[in-house]
Amino acid sequence: MIEESKGVTIMRRADELARHTEAPGLLTRTYLTDAHAGAAGLLAEWMRDAGMNVRRDAAGNVIGRYEGLTPDAPALLTGSHFDTVRDAGKYDGNLGILLPITCIAAWRRQGRRFPFAIEVIGFAEEEGVRFKATLLGSRAIAGTFDTSVLDKRDDDGRTMRDVMADAGFDANALRAAAFKPENALAFIEVHIEQGPVLLDAGLPVGVVTAISGASRFLVAAIGLAGHAGTVPMTLRRDAAMAAAEIGLFIEKRCSSISGLVGTVGQFGVPNGAANVVPGKAVFTIDIRAESDGVREAAVRDVLDEMKNIAARRNVTFDINQTHEAKSVPCADWLQDQLDSTIAGSGLPVRRLPSGAGHDAMAMAALTDVAMLFVRCGNGGISHHPDETMTAEDAETAASIFSRFVENFAPRR
Ligand SMILES: [Zn+2]
Repeated sequence: MIEESKGVTIMRRADELARHTEAPGLLTRTYLTDAHAGAAGLLAEWMRDAGMNVRRDAAGNVIGRYEGLTPDAPALLTGSHFDTVRDAGKYDGNLGILLPITCIAAWRRQGRRFPFAIEVIGFAEEEGVRFKATLLGSRAIAGTFDTSVLDKRDDDGRTMRDVMADAGFDANALRAAAFKPENALAFIEVHIEQGPVLLDAGLPVGVVTAISGASRFLVAAIGLAGHAGTVPMTLRRDAAMAAAEIGLFIEKRCSSISGLVGTVGQFGVPNGAANVVPGKAVFTIDIRAESDGVREAAVRDVLDEMKNIAARRNVTFDINQTHEAKSVPCADWLQDQLDSTIAGSGLPVRRLPSGAGHDAMAMAALTDVAMLFVRCGNGGISHHPDETMTAEDAETAASIFSRFVENFAPRR
């Protein structure tokens, strides 16, 4: 029998895993639903087939351990999440679990072991869809799980604590899910890029430098409503145009530096009408950068410009910060080992920041982290059923990951 290539196996399994969904015809798999349990079962089966011992922790993470040459050897950790957003793509998260399982299956067939163990973690929750709290799986393992989220409720009004109990997971045992830092050599996450950079550059993989920090605000611009026909332009206090002006400023300011991005993703005129000068506008600001200094400078400039606009237009901005996260750097020594693996495969090395959050962000509290990005098709679209990648790229990424592990030199 001709052995199926790793890339083909990964793509086939991504299709199979996607059958575990809450909503027929599309992929939605949120924390601790039946679909989630089905996917966990399938991942555990594939891990066992690849020669791993499988366990589930109190957060519902699925963890497969491929022993090293000696028992109880410290482990190189890898993995990603198997929960999804609503109407998701098949590769976000899932790729980072399926790919190492496939590589380990090959080592097992070759009878190959390493001086370290490898643990593949299927993180039970990353996206934050069901309980509006993100990174639950990786935070449990990193020992940073915030137990106050256990009282959060899903759309049916059920607390996370109760949902966990019904699914057979003990919220009181979450602390025991935390890994000991001395048992972890590093964490490497393989993930689709979820953007167009590698596609545009014609490269199958890239090395992540850092997971960008982010600042988010919810802003209400308050002016004065008036009749669209009777209030002269010079006497207007138009809240929507004040908001539009700051939106354009954000776009211009964030276009000036590579790696800095600014977005006004929500923009509304509550109770607006065609014949009314807007008295109120509500909008969001999302600013991210690899460098905290660059992001903070941009945020300062935006807040200053809001003061200018408010004074000139005689409006006020009611500004609420909704999120603030510092950039999480990937470890240089791991980036260097990924670089040389990629270069050794005859591919150009491309480093890029991750604008999106990932489990690696939480795992950085436990150990040094690295991420390998894999090219997406369809313009880099993700969190959408049009999310795609090729079997060739899965094959390339699997071969890079395999060589990285085979040559892995722990820093201790
Ligand atoms: Zn993801």
